[in-house]
Amino acid sequence: MDTYDVIIIGAGITGCSSAYQLAQRGLKVALLDKKMVGEGPTGHSSGIIRQHYSNELTARMALHSLRAFQHFQEQLGDECGFTRTGFVVLVEEKDRAGLEANVALQQRVGIRTELLSPEALREILPAMETADLVAAAYEPESGYADAYLTVNAYARAARRLGVSLFQETEVIGLRFRGDRVIGVETAKGTLDAPQVVNASGAWGGRVARLAGVEVPIHSCRVQVGFFRRPPGHESPHPVVGDFRNAVYFRPETGNLTLIGLIDPGEASAVVDPDTFNERVDSEFVLDVGERLVRRYPAMEWSESTGGYASLYDITPDWHPIIDQVPAGSGFYLCAGFSGHGFKLGPAVGLVVADLLTGASEPEFDPYLFRLSRYAEGQPVCGQYEYSIVG
Ligand SMILES: Cc1cc2nc3c(=O)[nH]c(=O)nc-3n(C[C@H](O)[C@H](O)[C@H](O)COP(=O)(O)OP(=O)(O)OC[C@H]3O[C@@H](n4cnc5c(N)ncnc54)[C@H](O)[C@@H]3O)c2cc1C
Repeated sequence: MDTYDVIIIGAGITGCSSAYQLAQRGLKVALLDKKMVGEGPTGHSSGIIRQHYSNELTARMALHSLRAFQHFQEQLGDECGFTRTGFVVLVEEKDRAGLEANVALQQRVGIRTELLSPEALREILPAMETADLVAAAYEPESGYADAYLTVNAYARAARRLGVSLFQETEVIGLRFRGDRVIGVETAKGTLDAPQVVNASGAWGGRVARLAGVEVPIHSCRVQVGFFRRPPGHESPHPVVGDFRNAVYFRPETGNLTLIGLIDPGEASAVVDPDTFNERVDSEFVLDVGERLVRRYPAMEWSESTGGYASLYDITPDWHPIIDQVPAGSGFYLCAGFSGHGFKLGPAVGLVVADLLTGASEPEFDPYLFRLSRYAEGQPVCGQYEYSIVG
């Protein structure tokens, strides 16, 4: 039995970034995962780093995180594979006002983003069909990173700062004295700590239940496909969020384009996170392939190179829950990132460290993400029906 200041359950981006930040403040941290670092959904993330959000808090967190990805090597002494491609959001008439409001909000918090004229859009996406669009915005600084590299870099940096990493160590119980958490029970023994963070993503609801807390986090199967771009299209294109065709896509090494859906319907694909089908469906490949060709006609000559399925941890408003539940218990929930938590990872670590150390002037106030917002009828609202965009 060992005693820590904090135990973190889950070594995805949330847990690893939090462990790193807490250790930087001198806390003794244990980081536990039932598998290996980044082997869950973080390691399967598309890794897109954009700042297009509808509310100030997440926009500021995305901007903070972008700076962390840009300066990763200096700050962590390690690689995250950040590739700057620019990010374009494409919308049709019904979303024009939302796009304009979002861009104004983002500019107010210091994000480099702009609305594009049709001519400017054609210049940025010369190979793509754009005549059907009414509005577009562009973030020149955005791009994508390698999520597996990133999460492992955070884990290594955390370990260098003294964090104890326990892989293949499943938390099977939470230990309480009265209303206060005092540690966890794992398949390999018990650990003590007065503060425990549930950063278990798609398992977040299950782990919360170990504390007798019900949280609305659903584990949902989502898919990603890959297509090899045809000859003449070797140059990487920007990351694109195409609302009209309800897809996002980005370049990947090997002349590939990675594509996934932006679809609120993905919230209904609830699965058991331990036994779901991790293979991509051929119907999905056909479907996203057709959507891609509508935007990028030359992809008609692309070659499909497969894909995979992984999990989103989806909440009712597609925003995370970051809160101490119940209040005063020492048990913190930091999960439910609903398909957009990778890019926020660096900022989330800071939020967790500020919360657990009772920082008097936290960089980001996580009140917006409190669990009680659902019971209060105050969910986080976005500008679009495609809530994943935030
Ligand atoms: C296909 C796909 C594409 C995505 N694309 C993007 C994107 O482009 N940009 C973006 O910002 N976000 C994206 N996301 C979302 C992003 O990847 C996630 O929000 C983020 O990785 C969640 O990280 P996490 O650390 O909170 O959870 P996870 O990565 O789910 O980690 C949770 C960990 O907890 C462990 N665990 C669970 N139960 C226990 C237990 N009882 N004991 C010990 N350990 C336990 C699991 O093994 C797992 O490793 C995507 C996600 C997917 C699946």
